[in-house]
Amino acid sequence: MQNKKYKLNFELVPDSCWYSNLRSILSPSQWGAVRRKVCAEANGRCMICGAPSKRLEAHEQWEYDEGSCTQCLVRIVAVCPACHAVIHIGRTQLKGDARAAEDHFMQVNGCSYAEMRAALGKANADHIRRNALPEWKLDIAALYQYIK
Ligand SMILES: [Zn+2]
Repeated sequence: MQNKKYKLNFELVPDSCWYSNLRSILSPSQWGAVRRKVCAEANGRCMICGAPSKRLEAHEQWEYDEGSCTQCLVRIVAVCPACHAVIHIGRTQLKGDARAAEDHFMQVNGCSYAEMRAALGKANADHIRRNALPEWKLDIAALYQYIK
């Protein structure tokens, strides 16, 4: 069960990563172009849960290679506010909305409460381990497909 693949995941960016989002390295017009391209691709539906949404938000998905300490951009997806609240569970917990986010995780992934808690525990363990690494390199080659 530990390695079960979910379509919606908790994603905790290491504190030591230089860029937790691309808005800090793109100009506002570049980011706007990326956002429009991703949202047009989504065609009014969340790219994770499939729900129709008028308020799609662009979200960067990263992979972390702990051997080379590289934070690698995988893709950018358009997601509904409910999925975005799950992805950024740390921020959501601070706002006091964790219960709704946990329910959404279980509904989208079709999993039990225990499985959701295990996934959260794993995300937290990954986060703590990655935070202990000294410095992350950034690989954003995947960005160019969105801004060419
Ligand atoms: Zn969604």
